[in-house]
Amino acid sequence: MHTPKAPEPDVFLDAIQNLDHAFKFANIHSEAIERLKYPKMMIHVSIPIRMDDGSMRVFEGYRVRHDDTRGPSKGGIRYHPDVNLSEVKALAFWMTCKTAVVNIPFGGAKGGVIVNPKELSPMELERLSRGFIQRIADFIGPETDVPAPDVYTNPMIMGWMMDEFSKIRRHHIPAVITGKPIPLGGSQGRLDATGRGAYFCVKEHEKQRGWKPENVTVAVQGFGNAGQSIARLLHADGYRVVAVSDSQGGIYREEGFHVPSLIQAKQSTHRLHPVYCTDSLCELIDTSRISNEELLELDVDILVPAALECVITSENASRIKARTILEVANGPVESAADPVLREHGVFVIPDILANAGGVTVSYFEWVQNKAGYYWTEEEVHAKLHLIMTREYRAVSELAEIHDVDMRTAAYIHALTRIGEAITAHGTKEYFRNNK
Ligand code: NAD
Repeated sequence: MHTPKAPEPDVFLDAIQNLDHAFKFANIHSEAIERLKYPKMMIHVSIPIRMDDGSMRVFEGYRVRHDDTRGPSKGGIRYHPDVNLSEVKALAFWMTCKTAVVNIPFGGAKGGVIVNPKELSPMELERLSRGFIQRIADFIGPETDVPAPDVYTNPMIMGWMMDEFSKIRRHHIPAVITGKPIPLGGSQGRLDATGRGAYFCVKEHEKQRGWKPENVTVAVQGFGNAGQSIARLLHADGYRVVAVSDSQGGIYREEGFHVPSLIQAKQSTHRLHPVYCTDSLCELIDTSRISNEELLELDVDILVPAALECVITSENASRIKARTILEVANGPVESAADPVLREHGVFVIPDILANAGGVTVSYFEWVQNKAGYYWTEEEVHAKLHLIMTREYRAVSELAEIHDVDMRTAAYIHALTRIGEAITAHGTKEYFRNNK
């Protein structure tokens, strides 16, 4: 008998549930909450591309600008076969909240193209990236909406996109996009900024827990830009990274991995190999293969989802054994899973705080592009450290004051800042009383 497939959850509707929850505690007008339930603008485009064999394929893409009350909207561009409008809206909404959590003068946006980039040649990928920018060129700009990398996009793609935008406008405009290669106006410290921001959160959390790094075990799901940097920084600090995975599955080793070796092998072969490397010589080591689902349920101190959204759901939440979840991915925990995790005593460092290091250094890149004056890596790290530590502590304090979890506290923090900006334009009370 044919069993009908369950409908896909609407990620955006799930994401905005946090608004009503945090509204009870945040200093924000109900009108502002209502506004945030709708993205400001959305564009749906088709991009016809000439493939290497001479045939034509049409790809579809989206750009969503959720809110720009606090400044130009900001957010990455994702290339993935499962990209859909609801997901892009959710990602844009999280960006609005994230930029407010770290108090940088941006709103939130996101883009996505429905494509499996692994199936395209480098030239096809370049044509697609330039084609997407041609379609959205009137929708983005350094003062309106500033894209950046996300899943399966990288600095080289950002470089092509900036170049295409500059050609359209007939002058060099590096500030239109962040996450660019350094010779094209990228910032020092941008490549590992998401992981480094998350690492600064862990260092604060470590003090709260009284942890000693060598006794703390870590599992990382997703071994791309963000997953590799958090794993590398934690490993360098003495944390024991016992499991990592990518889209093909994971590897587990109780003694922990030598993370730089895993990164070296992944970068040269594009695959996750359990290896130990001395210089360019890598040797396979004994490990167990695990699935992505098994990785999530490992008995570790810190679980780091660093791939896609909605991997921890009401179905598997009760089986999560990690003491702390560090949300390096956007939206890895469904809203229905949050109460279950709370009940099981799992401490969640939420995405809009944990992965905000990426957009923070993107902001630094934008500032440097506009000023035409560039900072050293040490300066970038120090400024990022200041912001992440300050906001982690502010969110922790709010969690204590209101006796809520870190996610609710982060939303209270963000909504209060967004609310102040929206209210400054006037509310119904203002307009009623000043007829
Ligand atoms: P990436 O493309 O560099 O890496 C993605 C990784 O996830 C790859 O290792 C891929 O193999 C793995 N993956 C894909 N599907 C998977 C699956 N079903 N199960 C397990 N692993 C899977 O992307 P990234 O930039 O590292 O982004 C990862 C997450 O971090 C995303 O949620 C993204 O929105 C978030 N994020 C990224 C940044 C940034 O600056 N790059 C900033 C903030 C948040």
